Amino acid sequence: MSGSLELRGVAKAFGKTEVIKGVDLSVDEGEFCVFVGPSGCGKSTLLRMIAGLEDVTTGDVMLDGVRINDVAPAKREIAMVFQTYALYPHLTVRDNMGLALKQAGESRARIDQSIAVASNMLALGDYLERRPAELSGGQRQRVAIGRAIVRTPKLFLFDEPLSNLDAALRVATRIEIARLHRELGATMVYVTHDQIEAMTLADKIVVLRGGRIEQVGAPMELYNNPANTFVAGFIGSPQ
Ligand code: ADP
Ligand code: MG
Repeated sequence: MSGSLELRGVAKAFGKTEVIKGVDLSVDEGEFCVFVGPSGCGKSTLLRMIAGLEDVTTGDVMLDGVRINDVAPAKREIAMVFQTYALYPHLTVRDNMGLALKQAGESRARIDQSIAVASNMLALGDYLERRPAELSGGQRQRVAIGRAIVRTPKLFLFDEPLSNLDAALRVATRIEIARLHRELGATMVYVTHDQIEAMTLADKIVVLRGGRIEQVGAPMELYNNPANTFVAGFIGSPQ
């Protein structure tokens, strides 16, 4: 079910402003890859291009070795979880989670089965008939994650999914995401500006700066051997 991602010379310009300046990156099947970097360095733009929510100006986005630049977002087998949960307020948890499957023409039985599995994984079984306004922030974010899981994507993209949660919930949800990664064996690309999240979740950390990759490596590689003071400022050990 999980897929490999490859970016080849991916660049993005808005008008004449180039915000992503040629990114080459491989994320292996089942790998947890974390993007870190200062605000405005292009983390969200990069994720949005992978998801197909933003056109790629030049370069290739490859999923399992197939170029997907021209594949519609809904057909990419990629699910994205945003910082703001973007749930439909008038729909129940069940219908929020099942909507994409319904739109894809899945049978009611298949949809219910998928929702049962995902809600069980996320401890949402008792909340399926509630609407988003009747949930806590952490529960809403779990629904957003559940909505991604039911699609059984090859790749999960998370854009700062915990930044709207308070500190305790952030830790709990982070642990939950780590557990999901283990249980699903899924490939995940995760954006954060939180060093602890990056260090604890990542198999591989990608440090971005001004639309370019500054350094890529396992957390302890970057921590012990940051390429420069910029990387050290994000990940490195205090020296
Ligand atoms: P990050 O997520 O790392 O904070 P973004 O990917 O949101 O960064 O933004 C990268 C750069 O691209 C920023 O300078 C931002 O202002 C610019 N940008 C993002 N989206 C657009 C857009 N739709 N039009 C013009 N500029 C944009
Ligand atoms: Mg962003």
